[in-house]
Amino acid sequence: MRDAYSYPPSMRRLVNELSKLPSIGMKSAVRLAYALIEPSNSSAEQLAEAISAARTALRYCEECFSLTESTVCSVCTDESRNRAVVCVVEKPSDIISIERSGDFNGLYHVLHGLWSPMRGVEPSSVRINELSTRLEKLGCVEEVILATSTTVEGDATAMYIANMLKGADIRVTRLAQGLPMGGELEYADELTLSHALAGRQSID
Ligand SMILES: [Zn+2]
Repeated sequence: MRDAYSYPPSMRRLVNELSKLPSIGMKSAVRLAYALIEPSNSSAEQLAEAISAARTALRYCEECFSLTESTVCSVCTDESRNRAVVCVVEKPSDIISIERSGDFNGLYHVLHGLWSPMRGVEPSSVRINELSTRLEKLGCVEEVILATSTTVEGDATAMYIANMLKGADIRVTRLAQGLPMGGELEYADELTLSHALAGRQSID
């Protein structure tokens, strides 16, 4: 950020805020800031307005915690979805990836993070307790698919949930290996996700 200290305060603030976004390093933040303040750039105000409108309109579904503009999302209200299968994902965007594969017709549960003892993230900081409440409420769940990434934290979270569900008379499965390096769902193409879903395996 040393370079940014020579910028006028408002520019420094803009660069600083942009650099807090995921995948945006300081160089990209500076480049974006220059593009945004360019007088001929009429879309900057529209961007600011779109961010504000999205933040006002969007909320988390009361049932599955995915992103919605209603109280309950379109998946949870869809009567044609199979309520006996719940797919557990880390973040709302993972739902888009799995829906794109077209091979899943159950419900979702979004954790909003992963259990990470190394980073001081406790299971209670992500929506793991809410998962067990929800399964009880649904009452008819036969299978929980753990679709967290195949990273250390994704695996640890999956094992934690599998342990939690021991004795609950629910089949607990994990997506098959073969996801890309780092195992993030958003980087997997539809075919890979399709195969990972079809080849899911029970966790004992
Ligand atoms: Zn929902």
